[in-house]
Amino acid sequence: RLIAANPLSQQEEALERALRPKVLDEYIGQEKARGQLEIFIHAARGRSEPLDHVLLFGPPGLGKTTLAHIIAKEMGVNLRQTSGPVLERAGDLAALLTNLEPNDVLFIDEIHRLSPVVEEILYPAMEDYRLDIMIGEGPAARSVRLDLPPFTLVGATTRAGMLTNPLRDRFGIVSRLEFYTADELARIVHRSAGLLEVPMVDAGALEIARRSRGTPRIANRLLRRVRDYAQVKADGVVTSDIADAALKMLDVDKLGFDLMDRKLLEAVLEKFGGGPVGLDNLAAAIGEERDTIEDVLEPYLIQQGYLMRTPRGRVATRLAYQHFGLALPDSLAS
Ligand code: ADP
Repeated sequence: RLIAANPLSQQEEALERALRPKVLDEYIGQEKARGQLEIFIHAARGRSEPLDHVLLFGPPGLGKTTLAHIIAKEMGVNLRQTSGPVLERAGDLAALLTNLEPNDVLFIDEIHRLSPVVEEILYPAMEDYRLDIMIGEGPAARSVRLDLPPFTLVGATTRAGMLTNPLRDRFGIVSRLEFYTADELARIVHRSAGLLEVPMVDAGALEIARRSRGTPRIANRLLRRVRDYAQVKADGVVTSDIADAALKMLDVDKLGFDLMDRKLLEAVLEKFGGGPVGLDNLAAAIGEERDTIEDVLEPYLIQQGYLMRTPRGRVATRLAYQHFGLALPDSLAS
């Protein structure tokens, strides 16, 4: 499966690193987030201060990790990387924080999955660069205060709504990453093809871009598979016909929907009469985790207008019926 949230193999991770833009100017699209960050980074550098804490949110594969690395690079500091589920104890976070150099970036991926004890010690660290940790237990326990170097926390999450309010409130900069347009993705595919030395024509890049669910990670993955196809079945050049044939073979349809997208839409349309259907019922029907549906599958289907979220559940839209060649129900047939 090609979805962006799949864990990456070691080889894929190395490739992602190689394709990752290193500076803000190479970061394609996301005009709003980029414009904001450009100004704030410039200002912070001018004052020799750390950048305000940054929260990046949006579906997987849109460039949150990439942006965190770029922030550190543009600030001229180191980046330390960890993730919410990895930080089990307060001491894990304390060890990281006390090893930072002034103005460094600490990147916490999946920050909505921090344990409450870890989150608790993050508050004073973010606010006053201070650590309050308890040493010992019972009556002998005492609290020790440590001063930290000033630092920038960059947190990434798939949904800002999953953060607790006190944590969210401590970020000075909150940026929402959006799905990319086909043109932006075509530029990304071009850039990647150049780095990987894949011969490609413009129409080939656009075909891959259109079918990548608005997501650079998927675009880069598809590019590699299309490259293989072009090499084995043709003369190696990625044209739109070659891209189309390769993507068909990978079960990626004209709209870029993959098997899971179609399974979800078909379940809503056929098993649940077009909806509304609750998330739990839908999850059971397609054998997928609730979170995967909410974080990975439905954001793109909703953004593209194939699915709607209503107070009573998910509902298929007119476009969904049309995509599967189904007759519209009376409610949509006006
Ligand atoms: P996230 O952390 O949001 O899951 P990543 O930052 O790991 O996503 O991005 C996945 C891949 O997509 C990166 O390896 C990078 O090559 C590519 N990518 C992401 N955003 C951009 C962008 N704006 N321009 C070019 N490539 C990008």
